Amino acid sequence: MIVSILKEIAPENRVSILPEQIDALQKMHVEVWVEMSAGEKAHATDNGYLLKNVAIKDRTAILQSSDIILSINGLTPNDLAHIKPGTVLLGVFQPLFNAALMKHYAERNLTVFSIDMIPRTTRAQSMDVLSSQANIAGYKAVLLAADLYPRYFPMFMTAAGSIPPAKVLILGAGVAGLQAIATARRLGAVVEVFDTRPAVKEEVMSLGAKFVEVEGAADATAAGGYAVEQSKEYQQKQQKKIFEAVGKADIIITTAQIPGKKAPLLITEEMMLNIKRGSVIIDLAAATGGNTPHTHNNKTIDYNGITIVGNSNLAATMPYDASKLYGKNILNFLQLIINKEGAFVANFEDELVKGCCITYDGDVVHDKIKVLVDSAGVLE
Ligand code: NAD
Repeated sequence: MIVSILKEIAPENRVSILPEQIDALQKMHVEVWVEMSAGEKAHATDNGYLLKNVAIKDRTAILQSSDIILSINGLTPNDLAHIKPGTVLLGVFQPLFNAALMKHYAERNLTVFSIDMIPRTTRAQSMDVLSSQANIAGYKAVLLAADLYPRYFPMFMTAAGSIPPAKVLILGAGVAGLQAIATARRLGAVVEVFDTRPAVKEEVMSLGAKFVEVEGAADATAAGGYAVEQSKEYQQKQQKKIFEAVGKADIIITTAQIPGKKAPLLITEEMMLNIKRGSVIIDLAAATGGNTPHTHNNKTIDYNGITIVGNSNLAATMPYDASKLYGKNILNFLQLIINKEGAFVANFEDELVKGCCITYDGDVVHDKIKVLVDSAGVLE
C-alpha cells in the first residue's frame, strides 16, 4: 500500500510528516511517497526524505496512485480531477464548516478522515492535532504581541525610572489560552482570564493568572468539554465585566470558539472605544469570524491606534515543531487504520476511527456532517 505526503498549498508552511518521522511510517509496512519539495517550508529537504529511501514524486503521480494521502489542508479542484477513486485522505478539513465539500468528496468516492473531529478523550490525546497546534498558537500569540507592543512586558525598576508590568487579558482558556497564560507569565506580565467553563478556573490560577468569574454559564458537560452558546443574560453580565477588563489591558488575546459556529463576539464596538491606544489584540478565532468586530482573517490592522492581528494558523509560523507534533499525531492515528500487513482497515467499532471518519464508500457517514448536508440545500 502506498502512503503519500502531499505538498501543502501556500500560505501553509507545515508538512504532514518530517523526514525524521519516516522510519515510524515505514515500520507500518507501507511504501512511502513524498511530493517534490513538500517539506521545503518546514526546513525539510527532498534529500532528507531521500536518505530515508522514500520515492519523491510529482503531484499528479501521487494523486493517481496513492492509497492513503496525507494532506493537512483540503485538495484543490485540479487535484480532484486526478485523484483515484477510493483514495483515503487524512488531514484537517474542518468538515463542520465545509459540509458541501465533504459531500463532493463522498461523490468522488474518497474516504475522508478529518482528524480535527477526533473525540477529546484521554485515549485520543496523542492524536489530538487541535491541541498540539493550539499550544503553539498560544505561545506564539504572546511573542507576537510582545513584539508589536510599544512597551515592556516585565516590570523594571531602574535608575532611569520604573516600568510597570504589562497587563494581559486572555479571553478563552482552552489549550491555546492556557499556553498563552504560561508564556505571558514567563515574560513577567500580569494576566487576567475569562472563560465560560468554570472547570478551567483551577488551571488558570495554578498558572499564576486571575480568573474573572461570571455566574450563570450554560452547562457544557454534554458538549464533550467544548463551549456552548450562552444565554442573553449571561452574555450581558460577561460583557459588563469584559468592558472593565479591556479598559485596563495592554494586550488582549482572544481564543473563544464554538465548534461549527461563528466565534462569539466578545469585544463589542463599545468596548473597542474603551481600549487604550498602543494596545495589541491577537485574535486566534479570526478564521471563524473573530472575537472582535474589526478582526480580519490573515490580516494585521490598525484600528484607532490599536493593533489587531487576525490569525488562526499561528502554528504555521513555527513550521518545524508544528509539523513534528502534527506528524506524531498522524502516525498515532495511522496505527488505527493500517493493519499489521500494511493494509487499510476501517474499524468503525473504534470510537476514534468512527469519530473522525467523514466519508466512506461513497457516502457522508459522520452523523453531524450528514445532518448538515441533509438539512442545507444551500450547501449544494
Ligand atoms: P476551543 O478552541 O474550542 O475554545 C477556546 C476556549 O474558548 C475554550 O476554553 C472555550 O470554553 C472558550 N470560550 C468559548 N466561548 C466563550 C465565551 N463566550 N467566553 C469566554 N470563553 C469562551 O477550545 P480547545 O482548546 O479546543 O478546548 C476545548 C475543550 O477540549 C476544553 O474543555 C479542553 O480542556 C478539552 N480538551 C480535551 C482534550 C483531551 O482530553 N483529549 C485535549 C484538549 C482539549
